[in-house]
Amino acid sequence: MTLNVAIIGSGFGGLAASIKLRKAGIDNFVMFERASELGGTWRDNTYPGCRCDVASNLYSLSFARNPNWTNSYSYQPEIQQYLLDVAKKFRLRDLIKFNHEVLDITYNADKKLWDLKTNHGDFEARNVILAAGGLAEARLPNIDGIDSFSGKIMHTARWDSSVDLQGKRVAMIGTGASAIQTIPEIVPLVSHLDVFQRTASWVLPHMQGHPVKKWTTLAYRFIPGAQKIVRTVGYWRREMLGLAFVKKIEKLQVGMDGAKLFRDLMVTDPVLNAKLTPDYTMGCKRILISNSFYPAMVQPNVDLITEGIDRIEANGIRTKDGVLHEAEILICATGFYVTDSPLGRKVHGLDNALLADSYMGDMANYLGSSFSKFPNLFMMGGPNTSLGHNSIVFMHESQLNYIVPAVKFALKKHAVISPKEAMAVEWTKTIRAKTPHTVWGTGCTSWYLNASGENTTVWPDQTFKFRQLTRGFKKQDHDITV
Ligand code: NAP
Repeated sequence: MTLNVAIIGSGFGGLAASIKLRKAGIDNFVMFERASELGGTWRDNTYPGCRCDVASNLYSLSFARNPNWTNSYSYQPEIQQYLLDVAKKFRLRDLIKFNHEVLDITYNADKKLWDLKTNHGDFEARNVILAAGGLAEARLPNIDGIDSFSGKIMHTARWDSSVDLQGKRVAMIGTGASAIQTIPEIVPLVSHLDVFQRTASWVLPHMQGHPVKKWTTLAYRFIPGAQKIVRTVGYWRREMLGLAFVKKIEKLQVGMDGAKLFRDLMVTDPVLNAKLTPDYTMGCKRILISNSFYPAMVQPNVDLITEGIDRIEANGIRTKDGVLHEAEILICATGFYVTDSPLGRKVHGLDNALLADSYMGDMANYLGSSFSKFPNLFMMGGPNTSLGHNSIVFMHESQLNYIVPAVKFALKKHAVISPKEAMAVEWTKTIRAKTPHTVWGTGCTSWYLNASGENTTVWPDQTFKFRQLTRGFKKQDHDITV
C-alpha cells in the first residue's frame, strides 16, 4: 500500500507532525523509527545530569501543555516521559514502525512517489517528512589512536549506565552543553577526572531551575490560561536575548560581565580561571547555564587540560606537550553530526540530487523546510531552523504551519509540489546575508557552521519572524504539477 506520508523519526518533530497531520484530516501515514522506543534525542541522551536549558513550559508542544512538570527546567527522564504521554494521549504509538531504520529514500519521477528502503523491507510514499533531528548522530572525535584505547569509550549521547565510574580515572573530551551537565555528576564518583577543553564556554548561573511548587501546579491545572501566560512571558524574555543576538550585539557585554563575575566568584585560582575564560563573543556558541560546573572544576580530583590533544593511546590521552594523561574510561562529550548529518546522504531527489548538498554545498532551500529538487519532501529542523536562544519546539510548530497545508494540498489535488527554484534561491540568499550581522558572524567555530564556515544551522533572526514567514502554504511560491 502506498503511504500518504512517511515520517522519519518519532521525536518531538515526528510526533508533532503526526498530530498536526491527523488534525488536518490526513490519514494513512506512519513514523519510521530506527530505535525500539520513541523520543529521539530525549530517549538517547541518558547521561547523568541531562537536562533542558529551556524552561519546560516553553519546551513543550503548545497544544499539549503539561501542568505536572516537577521542575521548571526538566531533566531528561521527565521530558522523555512527556513525549511518551503525548504519544499516548494522541494515540500515536500504533503509527510508529519501531526498529525500522531508513536506509535510502529516492524519488521515483515516473511514479511520482518516494521509494523508501528500510532494514525491514521497502515502502512507497506520496510525501515524506524528515524528522530525524539535528542531534541524532553522535560524533566521536576524529583523533589519532582513538581505536587503540584499551578502556571503555562512551559518548554522552550513548551513555552506558552499566559502566561503573566509582574510583576510576576518567578522561572527558569536550566542554559543551553535554559535558558541563555530566561533569558535576561524575566528579564525586571518580578517583580523578581530566577534562580536555579545546574552547572555553560562556557559563551563566542557573537562576530559575527549581522544583515546581504545588500551588503552581494547581494553578496550571485549574486556572484557565495560567500556564499559557507563563509560557508566553518566558517566550518573550528569550526573544529579548534573541534581539541581542541578531541586532544589538553590544548588549551582550552585560551578559559577559555577569558571566565573568560569576566565574571570578566560583574560580578563585587565577590559572584555572584564565583557562576557563572564553575568547569569543557570548552567544556565538551556545551559552551554557550551570551552578555546578565551576564548583566541580575546582575539586582536587579534577584537572582542566588545555594543552591540546596529540593522540589517544592504549592507556590515556597524550597532549601536544608530550604528557600522557592516564585514563581507564574515556567519555566523549563531543557533540553530533549536525551540518553533515548522514541522513542527508541517503535522500536522492530529481536528477539524482543529494539532500546533503543543501547543508554542505550551495543547494537552496525554502523556509528551511523544502527543496526544489525534492518534490513533496519536507524537513523538520531543516537548514537554519535550529536556535541559540529559544525553544526548538516553537520552530517545529512554525514549520508545520507550512508543511501540513502543503501536504494536504498535494494529497487533495494529487499534485507534485516543490518550491520554485527562484524562491528557494532568494530565501537562502536572504538567510545567508543576515548571519554576518548577528552574533554567529562574530567569528568562532561551532556546529552552527558548515565546513565552508557558512551558518546553515541557526535561524539568524527572531523566532516570531519565522512564525510569520511560515504561515500557510503559498501556492505562488511553488511549482505545482497535477
Ligand atoms: P557540542 O556543543 O558540539 O560540544 C562539543 C564539545 O566537544 C565542544 O567543547 C568541542 O570543542 C569539543 N570537541 C569536539 N571535538 C573535539 C576534539 N576532536 N578535540 C577536543 N575537543 C573536541 O556538543 P554537546 O555538548 O553535546 O551539545 C550539542 C548541542 O546539544 C548543544 O549545543 C545544545 O543545542 C544541545 N544540548 C542541550 C542541552 C541543554 O539543553 N542543556 C544539553 C546538552 C546538549 P570546541 O568548542 O572547540 O569545538
